[in-house]
Amino acid sequence: MQTETRADYDVVIMGGGIAGQFQARHLLLNVPGIRIALVDPRTEERVLEIDKIGESMVEVAALFAYKDLGLHEYFIENQPPKNGLNFHWPKDPSKTGAMDDYFSIWNNRNPPIASFQIHRGRLEVDLQRMNVQKGMVHCVGTVVDVDLTPGDEPHVVHVERAAGTREVLRAKHLVDAAGRRFIIGRKTDNVLTGPENLFGLNNGSVWVRVKNVDRTIFHDGYDPDNCATSHYYGTNHFFGHGHWLWMIPLDTGEMSLSVGAMFHHDQVDGKDLNTREKFYAFLKENHNVLYRLLESGEVIDFQYWPRVAHMPRTRMFSPDNWYVVGDAAYIGDAFYSMGTSTIAFAVSSVTEIVKRKLAGDPGAEEIRKTADDFNMWYSRTVIHLYHDHGKMLGDASVMSWRIYYEYIWWFGTHVPIFAGKWHLDPAFVRRLLANCERHFNAELYEELGELIARGKNIGFMDCYRADQLVFDYNTPKHFDKFIENAVWTPGMLNIYREVSRTYFYVAAWYAKFVLAGFGARGFVEKPRRAMHLARFLKQAAKATVLEKAHDLKHRGETRNPSVGRLRQEFRGYTHVPKLQPWARASGEPAAAIPAGTRPAA
Ligand SMILES: Cc1cc2nc3c(=O)[nH]c(=O)nc-3n(C[C@H](O)[C@H](O)[C@H](O)COP(=O)(O)OP(=O)(O)OC[C@H]3O[C@@H](n4cnc5c(N)ncnc54)[C@H](O)[C@@H]3O)c2cc1C
Repeated sequence: MQTETRADYDVVIMGGGIAGQFQARHLLLNVPGIRIALVDPRTEERVLEIDKIGESMVEVAALFAYKDLGLHEYFIENQPPKNGLNFHWPKDPSKTGAMDDYFSIWNNRNPPIASFQIHRGRLEVDLQRMNVQKGMVHCVGTVVDVDLTPGDEPHVVHVERAAGTREVLRAKHLVDAAGRRFIIGRKTDNVLTGPENLFGLNNGSVWVRVKNVDRTIFHDGYDPDNCATSHYYGTNHFFGHGHWLWMIPLDTGEMSLSVGAMFHHDQVDGKDLNTREKFYAFLKENHNVLYRLLESGEVIDFQYWPRVAHMPRTRMFSPDNWYVVGDAAYIGDAFYSMGTSTIAFAVSSVTEIVKRKLAGDPGAEEIRKTADDFNMWYSRTVIHLYHDHGKMLGDASVMSWRIYYEYIWWFGTHVPIFAGKWHLDPAFVRRLLANCERHFNAELYEELGELIARGKNIGFMDCYRADQLVFDYNTPKHFDKFIENAVWTPGMLNIYREVSRTYFYVAAWYAKFVLAGFGARGFVEKPRRAMHLARFLKQAAKATVLEKAHDLKHRGETRNPSVGRLRQEFRGYTHVPKLQPWARASGEPAAAIPAGTRPAA
């Protein structure tokens, strides 16, 4: 007969991947005494096999990992660095044997927010150990069912242990971080799949991990004219018709590497890529330099996923205290490496809701709704970002413009929204949703498609260089100096300064784009273009008014409380020109020489 045990917790997390472990750590750091159980069937040996994908962090995930989870030292000591994203298009698709055969956008310096690549197995094991040390209960088992209960009644989680025993866990808050099992998604009919529900996105993926590669086949590290950072220790993206590929180093010792493709079913038949041999044959003809690099190493694993994208139908954070985060909630395409950043937005939201609910805060429901609205909106925004990607990826000219445009928004709004925790501010989120630019983006993607159909070369935009647009702008630029001045108190970073400048540079980019693509008559042919331009400038002006109001509201306040305390304390400081007395070897007291009586040497 099966034995069955029961236990009660504040939070049960189903799934111990990166989302579940990040969630547990963030709750443990922010809610003292919280009782958490995390359920995952995998043993440490199994986790270390790195069957997981998702190996590169960008700025939002990086800020979350170092600042909010206190893991910067961990990353420095255990994971390889990532110097931004580099982009490569073949000059001629029939000749791809060396990097000189590609047009490249190289990240030419260290990024302002440093980032890392992730060996997922190592990270998940290490996080699990840290969380258990902080008091998390790790339940090694599989969730076989959940009873979701309305209101504040505890949810019931049924777990099957490896030995065949059963365990019943009860918790007021239930987090589904079990990835594509969609434990809550299936129960609540909350999962949307298929291109008809995903703005046409219809992508699949295939990847291989290898070790002991000869890195010099890609690059020998010497590029004194072009770059002050490593080309190899970045994430390198290679493009071609209907697909793009990543190349991500997974360590600095064994020279292991992850190389994979995202492809669009409308342009590439997944059946032609679904074995390692077929994938290598594809690379040999289409990206020979990658093929040679992979052939120089030994294969660790190979995987093929025919379908990647999905998103939640109605909600991510329920008033009934269940939450979906990570792959259990949504994923679009790995192009901008945003998966772990979407997790940062979701996990930080869940912590805020749970913290307030456990404390009996009457404002908790408003935060829950705000966070749900924001994260649902973000899921749509992230998936729409890949609209018509399949048609454009292989066009170096159009894609370089698209990347530049999308980076203006990423660095100008997404990163500062997260840095200032504006995704949890009800008034800001209402404004953001009311001013969503998705319709404009859809129209823009159509125009980009039109240029591809006409075979037009509109030049090559380099998102990292400061000589492409106006006023020395380059996309990683921030305007509110929140990094330089360590402005991390929620709501203190002036998000409207970022928004107003972002709209201004979007306007500048759009004007340059219309002129390059359609000439001055482009504004006459389609007056909507001029109207868009005027609207961007109006939005910039409106945001400037809000920016000034924000400055006024916080006038005289120190934007970082610990700096404020230091400055306050420093007012009472006087320099004391003496040392503390200490004992000589002989045992007699020693003392510093009084000023002006220094003996001759
Ligand atoms: C091809 C590809 C490339 C990507 N590249 C990047 C990238 O470069 N950067 C980036 O940020 N993101 C990337 N992503 C996204 C990233 O992979 C995901 O955001 C991330 O892996 C999701 O982590 P997770 O913890 O939600 O899910 P998972 O890592 O899948 O974890 C789910 C966990 O739940 C457990 N589980 C499953 N069923 C049960 C059950 N019944 N009971 C208990 N536990 C269960 C599993 O054992 C597992 O540990 C990529 C995605 C794809 C598809």
